[in-house]
Amino acid sequence: MGNEKLDYEKLGFKCGIEIHNRLATKHKLFCKCPARFSKKEKPDFIIFRKLRAVPGETGEIDIAAEFEFLRDRDYFYHVYEDTCCLVELDEEPPHEINREALFIALQIAKMLNCEIPDEIHVMRKTIIDGSNTSGFQRTAIIGMNGWIETSKGKVHIPTVCLEEESAGIVEKMEKKVVYRLDRLGIPLIEISTAPEIKDPEHAKEVAEILGMIVRSTGKSQRGIGVTRQDLNVSIKGGARVEIKGVQELELIPKVLEFEVRRQLELIRKGIKPQPETRVAKPDGSTEFMRPLPGGERMYPETDIPPIRIPKEFIASIPLPETWQEKLKRFEKIIGKELAEQIVKSEYCEWFEELSKTFEPKLVARTFTVILKSVKREGYNIALLKKEHFSEIFKMVSNGELAKEGIEQVLKALCRNPEKNVKEIVKELGLEGMNKEELEKIIDNVFNENPELVKEKRFSALMGEVMKMVRGKADGKLVAEMIKRKFK
Ligand SMILES: [Zn+2]
Repeated sequence: MGNEKLDYEKLGFKCGIEIHNRLATKHKLFCKCPARFSKKEKPDFIIFRKLRAVPGETGEIDIAAEFEFLRDRDYFYHVYEDTCCLVELDEEPPHEINREALFIALQIAKMLNCEIPDEIHVMRKTIIDGSNTSGFQRTAIIGMNGWIETSKGKVHIPTVCLEEESAGIVEKMEKKVVYRLDRLGIPLIEISTAPEIKDPEHAKEVAEILGMIVRSTGKSQRGIGVTRQDLNVSIKGGARVEIKGVQELELIPKVLEFEVRRQLELIRKGIKPQPETRVAKPDGSTEFMRPLPGGERMYPETDIPPIRIPKEFIASIPLPETWQEKLKRFEKIIGKELAEQIVKSEYCEWFEELSKTFEPKLVARTFTVILKSVKREGYNIALLKKEHFSEIFKMVSNGELAKEGIEQVLKALCRNPEKNVKEIVKELGLEGMNKEELEKIIDNVFNENPELVKEKRFSALMGEVMKMVRGKADGKLVAEMIKRKFK
């Protein structure tokens, strides 16, 4: 595929995105099971099901449903009793909708400038890959006709939905798929944009803004797979393609460009691109998954009565601080550049909390620059817990660990998340020097470099000392001690 720069406007680029974010509520959406993964190592039992495609209300079988049906797959579900009940097994009707999740969804809809219906209707959306035991996903429209402001103009938000998360995949083979049911039913917020996105970079910006809005509720889950983006894209003479499951924001522009070039290549060869669902791969390319389903068929969920939402109630819902307000507040403490990075980051909340006790710039730098560098080297930073960071910052502020050693400690923790920070610091030989040891080193450097001392060449002396301490002492402390010695 070519590398020439693409003119997206000329190509008739059309793109809308859908973001999905798990909410950190106490319970699942339609039962009292906890909204988290099981803590058990093995499932308590496994159930087996088959799926069958049947004609819909038009008398026809949906093309994507038939495609899956013809695969004749066996579906196995891992059941964990600490996070699953009969609702997940589809052996019991859903309970009343989770009020906490509904409240968060309403907050998000308000922040997205949506109209909120007077009545919330839970609907059933056909699911054809076995990721829900019932064969459909329960979903409710919470907001409509909203919009956000972006650097390239307004982007409209036709719908905000509150849905149940699907079952997590354990294993997928040609004739057999294994799911785990602990994830099924965790509240999920789904935000869709109109196809008004101008180019691949703009898509990333829109996803970033939507992510910040969801996170500003303080009720968004974190970690790998918690946020997923689906991209809808087409160009003139091409076809509408839906790309599923882009988990990294950085990947969005890459995936979109890849898809546009793929369609251009087909058109150049005289082949008409087909409407289809594709799946994003980690390198930014995409792979065929199945034909695009016919228009989304929704049916009312007859087990749950509509929920009335009085106007006064909507008006009384408080809005959290907006990301723009947050940005302004952070700028005053850590400067513009770091503030921008931290507001966009998943670690914004942890920053907010830990910067109350520890040096804000250090905390911000760790959650942005340092963590990005660790991740770039292939470490799974999702394994790092808040406690790890607070322990690291505590050691740095006590002089037990030099700032320069943070990155190394984080990498070691990713390899061994169960170990405690102190142990790792010791193993890596990164324990900070106490002042006496440091004093001794500085004395030596001063004795060995009388010329530099005479001319008060601060940076040269500083360099010599830092070479000797090799990351075991904080640069700021060393500088202070050298300056004191000059006097
Ligand atoms: Zn349950």
